[in-house]
Amino acid sequence: MLLVRNRLGRGLRYAAGWAVDSVLPPECPICRTLTDGPHRLCVACFSGITFITAPHCLCCGLPFATPGEAGPHGTCLGCIRRPPRFNRARAALRYDEASQRLILPFKHGDRTEFAPVLAAMMARAGAGLLAEADALLPVPLHRRRLVSRRYNQAGLLAEQLARRAGCRWLPDALMRHRQTVQLGQLSAAARGEEVAGAFRVRPDRQSLIDGRRLLLIDDVMTSGATASACAAALLEAGAKSVDVLAAARVPFPGRG
Ligand SMILES: [Zn+2]
Ligand SMILES: [Zn+2]
Repeated sequence: MLLVRNRLGRGLRYAAGWAVDSVLPPECPICRTLTDGPHRLCVACFSGITFITAPHCLCCGLPFATPGEAGPHGTCLGCIRRPPRFNRARAALRYDEASQRLILPFKHGDRTEFAPVLAAMMARAGAGLLAEADALLPVPLHRRRLVSRRYNQAGLLAEQLARRAGCRWLPDALMRHRQTVQLGQLSAAARGEEVAGAFRVRPDRQSLIDGRRLLLIDDVMTSGATASACAAALLEAGAKSVDVLAAARVPFPGRG
């Protein structure tokens, strides 16, 4: 009964948004402690989160332990070896044990009420990118994975961010027409090969892409190979530029 009530409450919160927030007391989505306002973590959960700040790669946003890690143009080794097709990528959180308590239930556990919490953090980290974007769009799932998961977590983030920024968003302009394997154990080079050519712009959405400055939204960025493959498809369709904003960034992606 408690499980049903919790699920109903969570579903209601996302479906009815701020209307329900005014009825139910605001609570931390991780530990259920009551909070001062909606879409916030409690002090204990918030204090465990590591936000990504400078120094980081000026291109892909990879956090550096020290400024000395940067290459001659302020970029990381990965961006020097394999320059990505996007201009800049930024992420709000370091992908670690603390942020996984947000990301994993959101991605795999139907906890869609985490979307506005993560979007608020992303809006701060990507304020400059959001200000310059003509439109937002999510990294798409293949239709088979979308059917099994029932929602695209990146799409929920893009919707929330577009609503906050008053920016257009394009939920279905980009499609993943080839299903890719899980990239988890692959090297950076193998990731690039696996996702190359897996994305394309829907022909009937090309006019929405042409000449636009686009901001691609994702939940977790690892090597940047997926974002780069998406950017390649968008540029091919005539996009003026592509930046990337992710909720979290894996700090030490494989560089093989
Ligand atoms: Zn908490
Ligand atoms: Zn980089």
